[in-house]
Amino acid sequence: MSRLARRALLALAATGLAAAPVAAQQYPARPITMIVPFAAGGPTDTVARLAAEAMGRDLGQTIVVENAGGAGGTIGAQRVAQARPDGYTLLLHHIGMSTAPTLYRRLAYDPVGGFETVGLVTEVPMTLVARKDFPANTLAEAIAVIRRDKEKLNYANAGIGAASHLCGLLLMKAVDTPMTTVPFRGTAPAMQELLAGRVDLLCDQTTNTTEQINSGAVKVFSVTTPQRLSPLPNVPTSAEGGLPEFQITVWHGLYAPKGTPAAVTQRLSQALQVALRDPKLVARFAELGTAPVAQEMATPDAHRRFWQADTAKWRPIIQAAGQYAD
Ligand code: ASP
Repeated sequence: MSRLARRALLALAATGLAAAPVAAQQYPARPITMIVPFAAGGPTDTVARLAAEAMGRDLGQTIVVENAGGAGGTIGAQRVAQARPDGYTLLLHHIGMSTAPTLYRRLAYDPVGGFETVGLVTEVPMTLVARKDFPANTLAEAIAVIRRDKEKLNYANAGIGAASHLCGLLLMKAVDTPMTTVPFRGTAPAMQELLAGRVDLLCDQTTNTTEQINSGAVKVFSVTTPQRLSPLPNVPTSAEGGLPEFQITVWHGLYAPKGTPAAVTQRLSQALQVALRDPKLVARFAELGTAPVAQEMATPDAHRRFWQADTAKWRPIIQAAGQYAD
C-alpha cells in the first residue's frame, strides 16, 4: 500500500467511517435509548415500552425508553435528529411526524431529512372522553353542551401537532365550535387532569383511554373509527353518534438519526418485525384496541413511503387552516 493510501485510510478510520461495517456487524454492542417525545405513562409511551421490550429480546440488548415531552413532540424529535447516527438513539413517534413539517416553520432540526425510517409499528384508534361528571351521556348531548358552554369548557391536548390536538381540531371543525385548549407534555398528564376534573374533554388514543373508560373513571362519547372496537363494545362510533366526519387513527413509526448505517436500520427493522409477532405484545395491543401493522410495513422503505404520503396529505389541510405553531 502506498504511503498516501495508508494515510488516507488512517484519516478515514479517524472519522469512524472505515469502522462502520464492522460496527454494524457487532451492533448492538450496548444498550439502546428509545426516545418517546411525550410524557411517561401515555399512549405513545405504552406502545414504545411494549416494542422496546420485545425488540430488546431479539437484539440481545436492553432498549431504555426515555421520555422527552413538549412542543407537540418536536423536542424529543429534535434530540434524535441531532444524536449520533450510530443506532444507539432511536425515536418512537406518531402521526405528528407528518404534521410537524408544515405546522412548525422554525424548527432547529430538519423534520423530514433529519431521520432514517426503521418501520411502522401500529395504528391506534382514538376516543373522545370527558371528566366523569360532564353533563352529557351521548355524542349528540356532548355536542349540545360544547355549543352551549364553549366559553367555559377546556379541551386538553399534548401540544400543537399531537394526535390529541389534531383530533380536537377535527371535533371543533365538525361541530363548528372552537374551545379553549390546554396543552400538556403528553396525554398522560392530560388524563390525570381529566380524572381530577380540572379539564373537561380530551381525545386520546385507546392505548391510554381503554382502561379508564372500562372502569368508569371517565365518560366516553365515541371511537373515531368506522367500526366499534372489541375492548370497548358499548362505545358507539362517531358515525353512530351522528358525526361521521369525526374519524382519525394514529400511526406510529420507529426512526433513527439521518446517516445511521443501512445495516443498522435493517437489523432494527428485523427486530421490530419479530417484536410485532410477539404473543405478549399482540395480546396487550388487542386489549388496548389496536394491532401491529402487517410485517411488510415494518420496513424502512414502506415506512418512508407511508410517511411521505401522509405528510403530503396533511400539508394542504394545515395550510388551508392557516394555523401554525409559530
Ligand atoms: N396521545 C398523545 C397525543 O396527543 C401523545 C402521548 O402522550 O403519547 O399525541
